[in-house]
Amino acid sequence: MIQDVLVLGSGSAGLIAAVSLKIKIPRLNVRIVRDPALGVIGVGEGTTPNFVGHLFDYLRISRRHFYELAEPTWKLGIRFEWGPRGRFDYTFSPQMDLQWGDLPRPNGYFCDDEFSNVDLPAALMREGKAFARQANGAPDIQPWHAFHMENEKLVSTLEKVAMEAGVEIVDGKVTGAERAEAGIAAVMLEDGRRLEADFFVDASGFRSELLGKALEEPFDSFGKTLFCDRAVVGGWERGEEPILPYTTAQTMDAGWCWQIEHERHINRGYVYCSELTSDDEAVEEFRRKNPKVPESPRVVKFRSGCYRRMWVDNVVAIGNSGGFVEPLEATALMVVCGHTRTMVDFLLQTELEPTPSMIALYNEQASKNWHEIRDFLGLHYQLNTVEQTPFWKRCREETDLSGIQDLLEFYRENGPTGFCRYRMPSNLSDFGVEGYLVMLVGNKAPHNKPHRVTPEEKAIWERHRTANIAKAKQGIDVKESLYYVRHPGWQWNDEIQAKRG
Ligand SMILES: Cc1cc2nc3c(=O)[nH]c(=O)nc-3n(C[C@H](O)[C@H](O)[C@H](O)COP(=O)(O)OP(=O)(O)OC[C@H]3O[C@@H](n4cnc5c(N)ncnc54)[C@H](O)[C@@H]3O)c2cc1C
Repeated sequence: MIQDVLVLGSGSAGLIAAVSLKIKIPRLNVRIVRDPALGVIGVGEGTTPNFVGHLFDYLRISRRHFYELAEPTWKLGIRFEWGPRGRFDYTFSPQMDLQWGDLPRPNGYFCDDEFSNVDLPAALMREGKAFARQANGAPDIQPWHAFHMENEKLVSTLEKVAMEAGVEIVDGKVTGAERAEAGIAAVMLEDGRRLEADFFVDASGFRSELLGKALEEPFDSFGKTLFCDRAVVGGWERGEEPILPYTTAQTMDAGWCWQIEHERHINRGYVYCSELTSDDEAVEEFRRKNPKVPESPRVVKFRSGCYRRMWVDNVVAIGNSGGFVEPLEATALMVVCGHTRTMVDFLLQTELEPTPSMIALYNEQASKNWHEIRDFLGLHYQLNTVEQTPFWKRCREETDLSGIQDLLEFYRENGPTGFCRYRMPSNLSDFGVEGYLVMLVGNKAPHNKPHRVTPEEKAIWERHRTANIAKAKQGIDVKESLYYVRHPGWQWNDEIQAKRG
C-alpha cells in the first residue's frame, strides 16, 4: 500500500499534484523536491474554469487566501482575432450549444452574418467588463470565469498552500533515479541524499526526469497536427491600458500571438513554427507589432505531444513532463488539474494499491484526452482561410485532423447542432461540443444546412442580443471588481456558507 509519495519538481504541476494528494488523502506522506537554482518555466499564465473549480470547490482552498497571495485577474474567455470574421469571442459558457425557447434552432444557425453578444459573458467581453453588476453595485461573480496569473506568483502561492496542507518541501536537485523491480525505488540528489518513496509523481517539466529519462517511455509527437514549436515571450508594465477580461489570440505570419492581462503587467508571446520562420524573424515581427516589448525577448522551445503512457509502474507524470501542447487554449493547467484529480480518484478507488487494469484505464483516458486537445487545436489552424503566408497555407493543406473526421463530416451535413457531440472522438476534454461549434461557427466553416431566418425570428434573436448588451453595459470592469473583492467587508460565497454552517 502506498504511504510515501515523492513529487519531483515544484512548478505549478508538481505543487497542484502535491497539494491535491495531501488534502484528499491526508494519510499519505507527501514530499516535493524543489530546486531553487533551476527555477520555474515562467510561462503558463492563462487558465480555464476547471482550475478555479479545482482550487476552490474540489480542494476547498480559501478564496480569500488565494486572491490575497496570487492576485489573479479574471478571464471570461479568449478573443480570437482570427479567420474571416476578423474576430469572435470564445467564452466559458455555452453560446452555441444552446437554443432559446422562442426560436426553432440552436444559436449557431443565427450567427452566419454576425457572431457577437450571443450570451452575457460574450457581451461583457465586448464591453470590457468582467461581471454583471448586482443591485448593490458589487460584481456578480459567476463560475464561468478562469484566471490570468503571473506564473511566479502562482508557484509561490501554491508553495505556501502546500506547506499549510502538510506537504514537506525538500530543496535539492535530482541527479538520478534508482530503478526498482517495477518502477523507481529512490531518487538521488546532487548533495548525495537518497530519497525513497513508494509512489513518484514526475512533475519535472520538459525534462521528464523519471517517465522520459529513467523509464524511457516513448514520446508520441503531435507534429503532424500542430506545427508550432517555439515562442518569443515578452511583456511590459501596464500604463493606461484597461485590464481586459479575456486573453487575446491574434494571427501572426507564422503562428499567433497571445496577450494575457495581469493587473500591473501585460504579457505577450508569439507562438511560431521554427521550420517556417527563424528566431530572428519571429523576434522582429513580434517587436514590430508590439513596440513596447523589451529589446531581447526570450525564446522558449517546446515540442507538442505526450508520452505513450503517463502512469508507468509507480510513476505518474503530471504537467509538461507527461505531455504538452502549445498554449492556444491555455490547456496545460487544465490538464494538470484533470489528470491530478483522476490520479487521486484512482488511488482512492484502489485503496492505495493501484491495479494494472486501473493503471491501464488511466493511461487510456489520459492519452485520449491529449489527443482530443491536439485535434481541437489543429482545427483552429486548419479553419483559418484568411492568412496567405506559407505557414497558414501549410495549416490548411497539411493539418492532420483524421481524429475528428467524423465530427467534421457530420458538421458539414448538419451545421451547428448539439448532436455533433455524438460524433466527437471522446468527451474527455473540458471544451466539449461547445468548443468545436464556436471554432466552426467563428471561422464560418461551410455546412449544408443553413437556416433561413425569418424576419420574426431575426427580431427575437436581436432582442436577446440587445438584452445581453444592455446588461453588459451596466457591468463592472476588472479594476473595480478587484477593488470590491479586496475590500475588508467583501465576503466570498464559501465564507458566507461557512457562517451559515
Ligand atoms: C510558451 C508557453 C506558454 C504557455 N502558456 C500557458 C498558459 O497560458 N496556460 C497554461 O495552463 N499553461 C501554459 N503553458 C504551460 C506551462 O508551462 C505549464 O502550465 C506550467 O508551467 C506547468 O508546468 P510544469 O510544472 O509541468 O513544469 P515547470 O513549470 O517547468 O516545472 C518543472 C519543475 O521541475 C523542476 N525540476 C526539473 N528537473 C529537476 C531536477 N532534476 N531536480 C529538481 N527539480 C527539477 C524545475 O525546477 C521546475 O520547478 C505554457 C508553456 C509554454 C512553453
